[in-house]
Amino acid sequence: MNRRPRDGHTGWCGKDHRCGLGEHRSEEIVVDVAGRSRAVLVRVRTAAGREHAEVRVRVALAPSDLAARRQLVGLLGDLRETVTRATIAGRPRPRRAA
Ligand SMILES: [Zn+2]
Repeated sequence: MNRRPRDGHTGWCGKDHRCGLGEHRSEEIVVDVAGRSRAVLVRVRTAAGREHAEVRVRVALAPSDLAARRQLVGLLGDLRETVTRATIAGRPRPRRAA
């Protein structure tokens, strides 16, 4: 999975304009949920070799401003919790002595 093809890109890199500035970037993966929300995922490997997932989220807002604001407060709180959980899970773990 992490082998580097001879062209210098990763096997999953989208190449062309997506790959640059020291990063390899995959093609976008679109996840559509019942026409009400959408997430766009991109896999990224930085110049330092660390891999990341970039996630762009689009949700249908409630029709009134007040309801939409409440909805956003909930969404941002949920995102904070999700990002925190993912960050903890993605931390490098110390190696065990053999
Ligand atoms: Zn690349």
